[in-house]
Amino acid sequence: MIDERKNLMGLTKEELSGFVRGIGEPSYRGAQLFNWLYARDATSFAAMTDLGMEFRKRLEDSAVIGGVVLEAHRRSERDGTVKLLFALQDGLRIESVLIPPASALRDGDTAVEEEQKRLTLCVSTQVGCPLDCAFCATGTMGFGRNLTPGEIVAQVLAGRRETGKKITNVVFMGMGEPLLNYDAVMNAAELLIAGAGITARRITVSTAGRVAEIRRMADEKRRVNLAVSLHSAVDETRTRLMPINRKFGIPVLMDAVEYYYRKTKQRLTYEVIFFDGVNDTPGHVTRLIALARRVPSKINIIPFHPISFTHPAGFAASLAPSPRMQEIAGELRRAHLTVLVRTSAGEDIDAACGQLALSRGARSEGRAERRTEAAAAAR
Ligand code: SF4
Repeated sequence: MIDERKNLMGLTKEELSGFVRGIGEPSYRGAQLFNWLYARDATSFAAMTDLGMEFRKRLEDSAVIGGVVLEAHRRSERDGTVKLLFALQDGLRIESVLIPPASALRDGDTAVEEEQKRLTLCVSTQVGCPLDCAFCATGTMGFGRNLTPGEIVAQVLAGRRETGKKITNVVFMGMGEPLLNYDAVMNAAELLIAGAGITARRITVSTAGRVAEIRRMADEKRRVNLAVSLHSAVDETRTRLMPINRKFGIPVLMDAVEYYYRKTKQRLTYEVIFFDGVNDTPGHVTRLIALARRVPSKINIIPFHPISFTHPAGFAASLAPSPRMQEIAGELRRAHLTVLVRTSAGEDIDAACGQLALSRGARSEGRAERRTEAAAAAR
């Protein structure tokens, strides 16, 4: 039997007020529900102890608190990174990664102290992903569907319950391309800011380079941070690593980035993984320095997690971590760029994007067909 009760997870305060009015309650009850759902992490109406019994009964009859169900978690013995695998109501699976401060050290500057106070959750925005980046386990899965705002926010609430700690930072950098699910991602960010007590400057949306949506973020003056997965400042190399670059090459991407900076005055982040012999040559580093100087920015260097069990044949199978990563970080710093080198978080628990879900059989059925269609539409 289909449950026709309204799912309240992901609704705004105004939407909750509208819902309670619809079941004959005063508007202010919407604000109470908002607080219980996002600030106090209630997972049942019974837990909302300051609401009258009669109201709670009416809620039970007409609504549910949907979201995500924690199916598995793995904690890295090496660095405390925690990978969370969630089941959605339709049986699909997504994952989030909790990154403790020790996994995010910035070496060589004064930001270490601030980093030590962080607990970052990397959340998914889609089931699978259509963009097919060569180094990414999620990309091999194909595209399943977009997540709803409720499913995105629920990952943060579940992460907070799981650890019993305050999550200080959220990055939209898990499974999926966030800007292909623009409205849901921005709605989720607003809910986290207004309801879950996470400030906008601690929320980051990471894109593979969707230029129209970067411009839209600028026009809408979104308060969250923007990160661009760059991986190479050389068009030909970037296209090999990230097929989206075929459609939006680096000149088009950088026009959008400069537009974003002009409108928002917000410094952005470039994410780079260095691969041995692919994007770690002196010529590549010189191009990266020139690109990074175009607007105020910082560079996050992320170590590569080899994904041997998911490797397709061809170029992706040959990717290996660059032995020059630290050396390049030094070169970038000497060029007066701000650089953060991530330690290798959770390598022992398949913590790279998509790896755990894949190992649990989350690969979409009909993957090849849907991947082709979705990728064609997205690119
Ligand atoms: S790196 Fe991001 S955009 Fe690229 S395939 Fe993976 S999830 Fe998609």
